[in-house]
Amino acid sequence: MRKLEERLLRFPEELLIEAAREAAADAISHRDYHVGAVVLAENPDTGQICAFPGANWKPVSHGLKYCAEGDAISKALKAGYSRILLIVVAADQQPDDESRVVAPTAHPCGGCRRNLRGIPGIERVLFVTVRRDSDVVERFTFNELWERHNGNSH
Ligand SMILES: [Zn+2]
Repeated sequence: MRKLEERLLRFPEELLIEAAREAAADAISHRDYHVGAVVLAENPDTGQICAFPGANWKPVSHGLKYCAEGDAISKALKAGYSRILLIVVAADQQPDDESRVVAPTAHPCGGCRRNLRGIPGIERVLFVTVRRDSDVVERFTFNELWERHNGNSH
């Protein structure tokens, strides 16, 4: 099996960002907030790496909601790609609903941050968040994301 770094070369960041922006077109949002995500994950049995797109889904103002990154992650896990490597999220900028942090790009929400925390190896996963229609990009690790929004609380 070739080295992970070599296998990742097939997935340049610009390509993943473009795919995440495209995935946002599939969003169903009652308040017209469209988020797209792409999760890059490895199948630990085959060593194969695949990119999974996702979009947010919340058709009514109450009840269930699915975030784009959660949508993409569940697709990856269902397909047997259980080792998450990279998560790209494309959205319009908005303050975080929970922490009220105003970042240059939209970050995974409070619910997603808590779900992500349960994923084994999350500290290795890199996050790339971009705006949908400008070149503003942020890159961070899960620990940086958590600290920024949740401080030192556990
Ligand atoms: Zn979320």
